Amino acid sequence: MLGPVILAASRSDRMRRLISAAPVTRQVVDRFIPGEDVDDIVPVIRDLTGQGLELTMDVVGEDITSPAQAAAARDAYLELIDRLKPLELGTRAEMSVKLSMFGQALDGGHELALANVRPVVEAAAEIGTTVTLDAEDHTTLDSMFAIHEELRKDFPQTGCVIQAYLFRTEADARRLAANGSRVRLVKGAYKEPSSVAYLDKHEIDRAYVRILRTLMEGEGYPMVGSHDPRLIAIGQELAHRAGRKLDEYEFQMLYGIRTEEHLRLAAEGHRMRVYTAYGTDWYGYFMRRLAEKPANLRFFARSMLTK
Ligand code: FAD
Repeated sequence: MLGPVILAASRSDRMRRLISAAPVTRQVVDRFIPGEDVDDIVPVIRDLTGQGLELTMDVVGEDITSPAQAAAARDAYLELIDRLKPLELGTRAEMSVKLSMFGQALDGGHELALANVRPVVEAAAEIGTTVTLDAEDHTTLDSMFAIHEELRKDFPQTGCVIQAYLFRTEADARRLAANGSRVRLVKGAYKEPSSVAYLDKHEIDRAYVRILRTLMEGEGYPMVGSHDPRLIAIGQELAHRAGRKLDEYEFQMLYGIRTEEHLRLAAEGHRMRVYTAYGTDWYGYFMRRLAEKPANLRFFARSMLTK
């Protein structure tokens, strides 16, 4: 019950101001977002890769309101890529981007987002790594998939995300599996209506398994984005049945969530990528993490009360 309420609050400016200004918020936020700028994040990247983990980096931000902010988002990624260059990590550190942060929702947003994301994909390729386009709410996805297809003409390793809770996703998965894409499958983190998405947890899980089978049996590179132990075990089994070697798929989890499981999978020889977000505009990302697990909200509320 709490999840949808928190997701609604994630779009409220009033709640954004209230929560962002609370003095204890930063401590709780740190668990999920380990830094505000690139200087904070470079040591985190060294630490995680030193433990045998791979990363996908997200400069947090979304719902921007001007082309100047979209250009600033592009520049933040370019700065990050510049700082990654001497570390020579190749695909062990890739980028995840939200096209809304690159201007997708503004006037002429589709073209603007493509123009802003292209230099990031080019710069990533120059240091031997890739970019994955995150999936946002369902109204943005046709544009995201069109941008993904356009970028893949020059950079075939560009990845995208699909969400098991959406009815459309089984068809998207078949198309992407046939054309050899890198695809991250997640359950889905936005507040969606019952006209486009499964709302029942078990139905979402069942859809996740059907879609994962399609990806594992297809021509692409599946990225299993979940912390759910059952789905991780099923992912291993489906990969095995499809005859995939350990480097022909990977697991992905969020920074700060089930950390011991990251290390266990990496120690078993799996590619394990940690989605690591940083930056100052963390409100939307943070609220989605609270919505996924109400216990996080209780922990947050308790910290507020004990200060
Ligand atoms: P759940 O059933 O939600 O969780 C399984 C278990 O994991 C829980 O019981 C709990 O122990 C733990 N857990 C899960 N979430 C939390 C949390 N927030 N705090 C503490 N413990 C938790 N969604 C999108 O819509 N678009 C994207 O582009 C996108 N990218 C993602 C990238 C990665 C690498 C991952 C892992 C997730 C991404 N998501 C994205 C979020 C995703 O849609 C889910 O909301 C999220 O992963 C929770 O679902 P789950 O599969 O982990 O299963």
